[in-house]
This record gives sequence, C-alpha cells and structure tokens, in this order.
Amino acid sequence: MTAAKVLRSPADLVAAQIVRPNRLAALEQVAARYAVAITPELAELIDPSDPHDAIARQFVPDERELAMHPDESPDPIGDDAHSPVEGVVHRYPDRVLLKVVNACAVYCRFCFRRETVGPGQGGLSRAALAAALDYIRATPQIWEVILTGGDPLVLSPRRLKDVVAQLAAIGHVKVIRVHTRLPVAAPERVTAALVRALRSDKATFVVLHANHPRELTEQARVACARFIDAGIPMLSQSVLLRGVNDDVATLGALMRTLVECRIKPYYLHHADLAPGTAHLRTTIAEGQALLRALHGRTSGLCQPAYVLDIPGGHGKSPIGPNYLSADGSTIEDFDGRRHAYPSTVPLDHAATGKITAVSNL
Ligand code: SF4
Repeated sequence: MTAAKVLRSPADLVAAQIVRPNRLAALEQVAARYAVAITPELAELIDPSDPHDAIARQFVPDERELAMHPDESPDPIGDDAHSPVEGVVHRYPDRVLLKVVNACAVYCRFCFRRETVGPGQGGLSRAALAAALDYIRATPQIWEVILTGGDPLVLSPRRLKDVVAQLAAIGHVKVIRVHTRLPVAAPERVTAALVRALRSDKATFVVLHANHPRELTEQARVACARFIDAGIPMLSQSVLLRGVNDDVATLGALMRTLVECRIKPYYLHHADLAPGTAHLRTTIAEGQALLRALHGRTSGLCQPAYVLDIPGGHGKSPIGPNYLSADGSTIEDFDGRRHAYPSTVPLDHAATGKITAVSNL
C-alpha cells in the first residue's frame, strides 16, 4: 500500500486499503469529532494485514474514541487554568509554552490537545502573537520559551524565523525549545530554510515526538541530522501507549534508535486522560515495570524520565520506579538485587547544615 497524499478522512483510509469499508460509517463519526491526517511517509509504514499494527494504532481513528471515561477531560493537563494571554501557558515560574499554531502534519489518536488541534483551528492571529510576545517581554523570570501547538514546525520558515527572532531579542529569554513531530511525520518538510529559521544566538533545542522505532525511517534520520548538524541539539519525548510501545523490546529499541540518531531520550509521558483514549493507556505500575526493565538492559543514555502531567494543571512529576528503600537502608541494582547502604547523614554536613540548605533550594 502506498499513499501519494495526506489521508484526511475515513474515505481516504478505505481507498488506501488501510481500513475495511465496513468501518467507514463508524469512523466518520470519530472523524467528525477529532481531526484525522496521516502523511504518506507514515501511511507507508502501516501493515494493513496486521490488526495490531503499532503505527496504525497511533494514527488510524478507532470507534472506541467516542467513549469518554469519567476520569477523562477535554483539557487533561490544565492548560487553560494557566493561560494569562491567548497562546501562552505559564505553569512554572521560569518557563512558558507558546502555542503558535493549532495544526499538525499528522493527528495522533491519543493527543492531549485533541480538543483544540486540527486543520481548521488556525493559529495565533498577528495581534494575539504580539500580545503573547509582550507578555514574555514583560515577565523577566521567563528563562525558557517552549514553542508548541499543534506543531510549530508546520509554520512557514519565514513566520517561524520571525517568531524566533523576536524571542531571541528578549534579553531574559535564554533558551528556546521546539516540540515537533514533523521529522517523522513529514521529513521532507525539514528543509535548510526551516532549520535556518530556528538559528539564533540563544540555546535552542528541538524535541522530537516519536513513539515507535519504525518511525525513525531513513528519511526521518536525515531530517533530524539537518538540525543536529546545524548545531541544534535534539531530545525526544515519547508517550507510553498500550499496544504501541508497552513492551520492553519495543521501548528499548525506540530509545536505542533515538540515541543512535544522536537524539537524547528526555521524557516518556504516561498517557494523559484525554477524551476517548482509555484503550491506549497503560497503568502507572506497568510503566514503572517497563522503566525498571529498561534500566537493567540499556545504556544510561537510553533512559528517559517517566513523567505524569498532573490533571488540573499542576505540572509534571517524575513517576519512575524507586530503587532506594523508604528508610534509605537498601538500594536495588539493575538486576533486581538489594544491597545495604549506610543511611546516616555525614557528621560534617549535619553540623554545618549543608543538607538543610540544599533542600531549601
Ligand atoms: S503531533 Fe502533538 S499536538 Fe499534534 S496531534 Fe500529535 S500529539 Fe497532538
């Protein structure tokens, strides 16, 4: 199966033989609720004969999306509660999200912003972008700005360059971070002009969203190398998804592949309580068991932080496994064996109060 264009409807998916015609009516109901787009590069990776295909599971709509679990929420990570001006989420003192556009090259079925992203959702108007930049200029504690959306890299290089230049001109903004799925979804759109648009005298990081090792195709690797070779380091974020990457072989292969591409695994997100996504979520206990297995089998370079965005907008917290016993007297090694550790506070620290000072940072 080869698709020549972006698949944007259940009828397109039927025509591309990715879904059977008997699902068309049900999937049209899903598509009326949540955006659908699968780029040719990702469609090419789908094996229609495999009902459990990990790429299809991420992008092909599913009837189960219409069932909302009571714990799910249209705004699962509480963006709205921390939005001082349109397009800005200011949750932590030293950093903000700047949501420049609400469109993406591809729409993920588990998206935590699925209620607000889509092809017709547009982006920030010129006036709203100016107001968002004014807010950042007027807030000196903002050290880092995270361009997100949607996918900020779907903007034209000219518009992106303008946003980056305006951010780079703000003295207190020292770091610009860009969250994107474009290098795996549409690698040909990572052009030299797009890469140049991100360059400034500020520290800039591109964070790639990838969930399965098959997403790192040869073209995707070339696209990532364009950023890295231009001096823009890359990190990754992945979402732990049932039936996609919730086994240690796949998760380990994903992290190793990323590192081989010179991309440092940064976050593994526990799937958010986005509407209609219960069939894609694991339990936290399953996630912790996977992280424990990863710790035992793969290099330290391959270890992301397993994090949960606390519902209600209270930010991210690490939820990885704990290796130290509650009283600090034993520590578990990579093979699951426990070892004693002397848990007394060193006398010189206790005497000088250094420990207390650190805990107050
Ligand atoms: S690329 Fe990101 S913002 Fe866009 S649909 Fe996927 S998860 Fe949501």
